[in-house]
Amino acid sequence: MLVDLHTHSTFSDGRYTPTQLVKMAAAADIKLLAITDHDSVNGMEEAMQAAQVVPNAPQIVNGVEMGSQAGEYSVHILGYNIDIHNEKLLAKIQEMRHARETRLHRMLDKIDALGYHITVEDCDPKNRAVGRPHVAKALVAAGYFQSVDEAFEVLLKRGRPGYEPQPKLSPEEAVSLLHEAGGIAVLAHPAEIENLNLVNTLLTNIAFDGLEVYHPSADEKMQQYFAQLAAKYKLLTSGGSDFHGVEGRFPEQLGVFKVDSDKVSIIQTMVK
Ligand code: AMP
Ligand code: FE
Ligand code: FE
Ligand code: ZN
Repeated sequence: MLVDLHTHSTFSDGRYTPTQLVKMAAAADIKLLAITDHDSVNGMEEAMQAAQVVPNAPQIVNGVEMGSQAGEYSVHILGYNIDIHNEKLLAKIQEMRHARETRLHRMLDKIDALGYHITVEDCDPKNRAVGRPHVAKALVAAGYFQSVDEAFEVLLKRGRPGYEPQPKLSPEEAVSLLHEAGGIAVLAHPAEIENLNLVNTLLTNIAFDGLEVYHPSADEKMQQYFAQLAAKYKLLTSGGSDFHGVEGRFPEQLGVFKVDSDKVSIIQTMVK
């Protein structure tokens, strides 16, 4: 059985609406789909509704991807099975989305001074957790770059002149918010952290429930290593495509990066 426990919709930096994701998952025969927008659970209602009417629709798992910061490292944390009405969690992610909007203005001022003229409207921030991908897309549309990836490489990634940090939680705080909302917390794409000592430290010291072993950022060897880590720290194994629907960024289609349910013990907490 195919599953995908990490996808993004138009409520953050994904290209497709929750309804479109449900349809694409149905076409790819994915049986369990988690939508994990950055700092938002606003796509969940639409996804649940779509799943009731789309033929062969997957079961929907509610999810969120929270950004946290450990020193200079960005640590993403996936939450599943959360109460999407939990007030404390909702207040915090709303605060994070608001911070993203003010950061967008700072970022646009910064790149304006560098000769890249983009407006807030070009970034289409309405009802979204807005981030660098929206700026990158607008820069490509305005002809400044050939691709979103090029915009990141030249201008937007950490260390480049257009970079603006996003205020972030501590990993401890993100995990405890997810727990308080009745959910489980999974350390996302550990390969992207690019510091295996830090990954081990995080797993030792923070009450994670699971580890995202299967993700496009980890090759087979890395996946084996992360599976061992999950066993060592007694964590559930998880996996997903991190599908955004962005051209030039793998996977360009849902269902291309395959995760089999046999490999991800986390589904025991999800399948009804
Ligand atoms: P932000 O949340 O604004 O800091 O932006 C981070 C998001 O940018 C990540 O969640 C990815 O979806 C996206 N991203 C990071 N690097 C790249 C890249 N090289 N090309 C396309 N998207 C990227
Ligand atoms: Fe993203
Ligand atoms: Fe992420
Ligand atoms: Zn993601």
